[in-house]
Amino acid sequence: MPVNLHSDTQTQPTPAMRAAMAAAEVGDEQRGLDPTTAELERRVAELLGHEAAVFLPSGTMCNEIALRLHIRPGGDELILDRSAHPLVAEAGGPAALAGATTSPLDGDGGIFTAAQLEAALHVDGDRYAPRSRAVSVEQTTNMGGGRIWSPEQVEQVLAVARRHGLRTHLDGARLMNAVVASGVPAADYAAGFDTAWIDFSKGLGAPVGAVLAASRELIDEAWRYKQMMGGALRQSGILAAGCIHALEHHVERLAEDHANARALAEGLAELPGVQIDPETVETNIVIFEVPDAALLAERLAPEVDVLAIGPARVRAVTHLDVDREQIEQALEAIAAAV
Ligand SMILES: *Cc1c(COP(=O)(O)O)cnc(C)c1O
Repeated sequence: MPVNLHSDTQTQPTPAMRAAMAAAEVGDEQRGLDPTTAELERRVAELLGHEAAVFLPSGTMCNEIALRLHIRPGGDELILDRSAHPLVAEAGGPAALAGATTSPLDGDGGIFTAAQLEAALHVDGDRYAPRSRAVSVEQTTNMGGGRIWSPEQVEQVLAVARRHGLRTHLDGARLMNAVVASGVPAADYAAGFDTAWIDFSKGLGAPVGAVLAASRELIDEAWRYKQMMGGALRQSGILAAGCIHALEHHVERLAEDHANARALAEGLAELPGVQIDPETVETNIVIFEVPDAALLAERLAPEVDVLAIGPARVRAVTHLDVDREQIEQALEAIAAAV
C-alpha cells in the first residue's frame, strides 16, 4: 500500500469509532426522533457558538444549503477566494442551486483582506451591477495550503460585511485544524458568521457527516433545503455516533498531523527541484512546486499517493492513518523521484 497523502478524507474509521457507531441509539432523523443525531447537533451548535445546528451528509451540502439561505436568485453576488471549495469543487453548485453570481478574490494562500473585499463590493444600488449579498471564508484554506485566518483577519472581513449588510458564511471543513494549531476556540472563529459548519469526514476521521450551525430561524429554513436536496435521513445516529466519537477522541490528535506535515515540508525544502517554504505549512496540508506535477504524482504512485493540483503544484495531506515513519518513507520516495 502506498503512503496515503492523497487526502484526509480517506481515513478509515478506527475500531473504537466503529464500535461507537454500532452501539448508537437511533430513530427517524427526519421526524426529529434520532437522539444521537440531536446530541451531535447540540454539541456542534455549542462548539461553534450558535443557537442551532443541522446534521448533513456532506460539507458540500452544508455550503450549498447555506448559500441558498443567503442568496436570492435574481442577481445576488457571492464573494469568496478564487481557490474556495464552492468555486472549484462543487460542480457549479452556487450558480445551479443558489442562483449566485460569484465574484472571486485573489487572496494569499486562500486568505483575502478586508480591503480586497471592500474594493469588490457592489452595494450602491447601481442597476448595472450584481448585488453583493454574501461573503464566504474558508478556515483552513484547502487549495490555499491549509493556511489559518487569524482572528483579526476574520474580524476585519466581518466588519466590512456588517457595514455593508452582507450575509457571512464560514466554510469550516477543517476549522478544528485551525483551532488545534492556533489555540483559538472554535466559537471565537465561528460565532460572528451567520452560518458556519465543520466536516467530520476530513481530519476528524469519521466516514460520513458534517454539521451546519446558525440561528434557530436559519436552521429551520435549512431543513427545507435538506429535504429538497435529499439530505433528510432516517437512522442517522449510526453516522452521528462516529462524529461524536471524533469530537471526543480525534480533535487534540490533529496536532500530530500538523507536526507530520511540517516535517514533510522541511524534508521537501531540502530537495533540489522542489519549492516550498515550510513556514507556510500551518496545519495538515502541504503544497509544493515541482517542474511537472502530473509526472511526479505518476512516478510516485506505487509508493506515495499525492495529488497534482496544477501543472506545477502538488498537494500532500497528513491525517490519522499516516505516522512519522511513513512521512520519512514518503520523503525518500519523493527524493528518488525528483
Ligand atoms: C472537503 C471540503 C468541502 C466539502 O466537504 P465534503 O464533505 O467533501 O462534501 C468544503 N470545503 C472545503 C474547504 C473542503 O476542504
